[in-house]
Amino acid sequence: MKNNATYRLSCGYLYHVSVIIGLCLLFIGQHSWASTFSPMPLRLTSDSITKIELQEWVYANQSNDIGTLTQLLQQPENTWGKVNTTQPYRIGIKNYWVSFSIFTPNDNLSRIIALDNPLLDSVKIYHLINGRLIGTEVMGDSLPFKQRPLQSNIFLYPVNFEPGDTHTFYFKIDTKGSVSLPLVLWSSNDLTQLTETKNLFNGMQIGLLLAICLFSLFIALASGSFSYSYYCGYVLGLTLLTATIYGVSFRYLWPQWPIIQQYIFLILIPLTLAFSLLFTEKVLQLKYHNLKMLRICRVMAGLCFGLTIIMPFINYSTALYTLVFVVLTISIILIAFSLIQAFGGQRNAPLYAIGRFGFMLGCIVTGLIYIGIISPGFSPLIPVMIGLTFEVITMAAVLALRYNDERKAKLKIQQQALEQAQRLRETREEALRSEAENSEKLETMVQERTLELEVTLRELNDVNQQLTEQNTIDSLTGVKNRSAFDRRLIAEGRISRRQQTPMSLLMIDIDKFKSINDQFGHLSGDYTIQTIANTLSEYLKRPTDLVSRFGGEEFAIILPCTDKDGALLVAEQIRQAISELNIVHNGHSMPITISIGVSTAIIDSDEHPILLLEQADKSLYQAKRSGRNKVCYYQLETDQT
Ligand code: GH3
Ligand code: MG
Ligand code: MG
Repeated sequence: MKNNATYRLSCGYLYHVSVIIGLCLLFIGQHSWASTFSPMPLRLTSDSITKIELQEWVYANQSNDIGTLTQLLQQPENTWGKVNTTQPYRIGIKNYWVSFSIFTPNDNLSRIIALDNPLLDSVKIYHLINGRLIGTEVMGDSLPFKQRPLQSNIFLYPVNFEPGDTHTFYFKIDTKGSVSLPLVLWSSNDLTQLTETKNLFNGMQIGLLLAICLFSLFIALASGSFSYSYYCGYVLGLTLLTATIYGVSFRYLWPQWPIIQQYIFLILIPLTLAFSLLFTEKVLQLKYHNLKMLRICRVMAGLCFGLTIIMPFINYSTALYTLVFVVLTISIILIAFSLIQAFGGQRNAPLYAIGRFGFMLGCIVTGLIYIGIISPGFSPLIPVMIGLTFEVITMAAVLALRYNDERKAKLKIQQQALEQAQRLRETREEALRSEAENSEKLETMVQERTLELEVTLRELNDVNQQLTEQNTIDSLTGVKNRSAFDRRLIAEGRISRRQQTPMSLLMIDIDKFKSINDQFGHLSGDYTIQTIANTLSEYLKRPTDLVSRFGGEEFAIILPCTDKDGALLVAEQIRQAISELNIVHNGHSMPITISIGVSTAIIDSDEHPILLLEQADKSLYQAKRSGRNKVCYYQLETDQT
């Protein structure tokens, strides 16, 4: 019993302006009731036009609560009045009776009475011929679709007229919504033509909306875009609403379930509104531009989802008025938002506002047609449906633009990220390159430094060696000094001990040297010492032999691996060579001889070399004693003497 109301409501949603104006008129006055009842029937002949608007011949009864035809017929004539049946602004009427008569004087005619309001809940038709009831028919979208005498989206009642008959029709209408009763008498040909054309346009519109809906669904699924998902929900809601208004949904989607027909508007309208709000929030990018508006949109969307759930459970007329209020408020808010954003310079907002205005314009025109201010001769639904389709298409364009903007922004970000990555890679490569260069340089430097260090170390070593060497050299004579002799004596002693080879020592002292000094001066003495040192070095050929200045005018010679005989031989040769020297200094010739003490042994202890040295010294003493210019070998018995 709610379908008249839902039809009224659908108009209210789709054409909110017309609803408001309609509601106002409803409360302003019931001016359409005529003052007199004139039971003048329509005179129908074969010459009559094939489409007759019955409005002029339709009367309504203003009595309340007349349930049966018998009761109605008992009502006085003054309860009947003429009514404008196309006006939609009567709401919530039960047992609403209208009547009209058709008289055919001469012809057999076949006609169809059409009631072009597919959403009426219940229409009970009483058909009388010449005052006699010949049939009743019940239609309405609270009943299964199959029950209709002609299977059409709108209510059709076929009638055969015979000559001289007067057909009287009583329509009993129950509704909580509006009583829009566009009654027309059609010839079947014209009706078929009109129906075909109308169905074509309706089908085109629904097809277009459905195509947009599917298209956005696929984009939403493919891209995971919330905007397209909301848009899809929004368009799907509008598509279902449109299909329901045209009576297509009931006929094809739920013909057996009139209950759905009763509640579908109450569910669809807030649901569509919710999607519209969410879609608006996305498409106007309120998240980035206006957080207050974003919050309002989301709260309103939440309320709409809530309404979707509770609507079927609350009082029908409360639900109706709530929805009218909600639709109006949200429409105005959304238009205001889009205008604010448009004037704020947001790119997509002007197109969005244009779309909404297009819809609004359709609503206003439809509203004006409904209240009779303009009568363009086409269905009042057409402007609003054009507006709706225009809005849906405009929104699709807005969405596409936004999607493109987003895509471009993403591409830009990707490009920037790529460039940044490129720069990062270059910097890293540069760093690696310079690191490699540095480490190469470092390596070269280290190598150079190492080389320099090695050279320096070698030089240092050489200098050290030179220094050590110098430390071992006697500065006057150039032969080894006393400390070199001492070290060498111990070393050779060890070798002798290990290898069990004999080692010989020669202790040499210049004879009567004091007198040389005294006679020729100390410089001549020094010269003599140098000459003797050179002579000693020349005579010792083995590299292991060592000549050293033992002290003053004394020399000591180590002869490793040399036995007594060898040592005596060398000593004798030296003695002789020196004695044969002719040393001349400052024009003075200086006769020089030396005495040599010799000792030989295979070393057998650490102290033995010192002992050997003492023995050589003793032998030298012996040589001195036995007259100088002599070689003496150490004998134990000698030692004892
Ligand atoms: P003898 O035959 O007994 O050895 O007689 P001598 O005069 O050589 O006696 P002695 O060996 O005791 O004297 C050593 C002298 O040699 C003492 C010193 O005047 C001299 N003399 C020592 N060292 C040097 C030196 O480096 N240069 C010079 N010119 N004379 C030195
Ligand atoms: Mg001496
Ligand atoms: Mg001497």
